[in-house]
Amino acid sequence: MSLVVRGGHVVGPGGLCRADVLMEDGIVQALSRHGTPSGRGVDAGGCLVFPGLIDTHVHMGFEAGGVLSTDDFASGSRAAAFGGVTTLIDYALPMRGETLAAALHSRRAAAEGRCHVDYGLHVILPPYRYNQPIEIVQCLETGATSFKLFTIYPDLRLGAGELFEAMSWIVRAGGLALVHAEDAEFVESRTRVLVEQGATGADGHLASRPAVAEAMAVARVLHLQAETGCPVHFVHISSGTAAQLIGEAKARGADVSWETCPHYLVLDAAVCRRADAHRYLVSPAIKTREDRAALWAALQGGELDTVATDHCPFTAAQKDAGRDDFTRVPTGLPGVETTLPLLYTEWQDRGLDLGRLAVVTSQTPAQRFGLYPRKGIVAPGSDADLVVYDPGTRGVIRAEALHMNVDWSPYEGRSYRGSVRAVVSRGRVLIEDGTWCGEEPGGTYLPRGSAVRAVAQGG
Ligand SMILES: [Zn+2]
Repeated sequence: MSLVVRGGHVVGPGGLCRADVLMEDGIVQALSRHGTPSGRGVDAGGCLVFPGLIDTHVHMGFEAGGVLSTDDFASGSRAAAFGGVTTLIDYALPMRGETLAAALHSRRAAAEGRCHVDYGLHVILPPYRYNQPIEIVQCLETGATSFKLFTIYPDLRLGAGELFEAMSWIVRAGGLALVHAEDAEFVESRTRVLVEQGATGADGHLASRPAVAEAMAVARVLHLQAETGCPVHFVHISSGTAAQLIGEAKARGADVSWETCPHYLVLDAAVCRRADAHRYLVSPAIKTREDRAALWAALQGGELDTVATDHCPFTAAQKDAGRDDFTRVPTGLPGVETTLPLLYTEWQDRGLDLGRLAVVTSQTPAQRFGLYPRKGIVAPGSDADLVVYDPGTRGVIRAEALHMNVDWSPYEGRSYRGSVRAVVSRGRVLIEDGTWCGEEPGGTYLPRGSAVRAVAQGG
């Protein structure tokens, strides 16, 4: 089956290039600047053609504090496609007594035949299963090459010695450690103080996990990284202090990379003053204006590696159950569908290079998570995953017009530039003229290779 995306400007690390993209059986065959013969085609005239976004941090049907997030693989992957995301990486969490391989198997079973875009899986190493070197090697053999380590949450967190042990096994097996970095002791003891003081509003959540809590955990993990040599990718970094610490480690040559999320780039602590501030609770907390500025500086300076969403939606009613008590609000935000319009708009407002947008949302995620060059670039031999983005339109974000299985948006009423016109996933047209035209879910499990060494420069 052949397909041509005609007349667009393909976005790559070097910038824009006017070309038709010729695809055959789900693979890009050529980029042609001289027109193409007729055939099944998608019109991209006047549009940008991005490599499909790779969202390396999503939670479909994830239980947080006894509450289940509302998107499953079917609804979440369809919404992802509407946002131009053609690859998702979710998580497998072993239950007590379950092997890592069994956890991977059951998570794949949940996604199989339901996911509209391609997907991979990270493996969470909880305190009851972090120390299984043979199982870690087995995960790598099946293409699950990245392992999530938590420094916080009573059920998930590893102590420093356990982190050291897990990182030692991961590096020996050739894997990548993903780290959620917040200092549990700080957050838990500060939460007790705030609750005693009656400071249980949304600003209490931020006060319980400020930048210093993130920085303390990042510093501890960087020490362990230096000691073990384990490649580390910090997920959802939210503060300037943590970004600076990681930048210094990179400058020393450490194999570390980091992600931030659209909500830390677009929102700041001003959301605490909203009447519905509790709905914005996410961990790590959304930080100050200065932190937001520091994240943008790192992005512009080439120090930030990836943007991913940590997509974990809860309905307004689920959030509202903890309206006056931040300790009872399920933390997490919807986001998998809105990354591209939000970032494209910021990019235009800030006059940034579009090539860099493709690098942080697709190329570097593919490289760091062992998918490059199959994913992450529009080039001959790569999977035919692309987004046709029409820069000439404007819109306003309305939850009711989005496709995520959630009834509110943290970006409600925000205007954005451009819109997703068409999305192609391994040669299948999922969206054309902004309308869903996908059929049976055709996403496939992606066995991944080893992480390319962190490429973004230190500060
Ligand atoms: Zn997460």
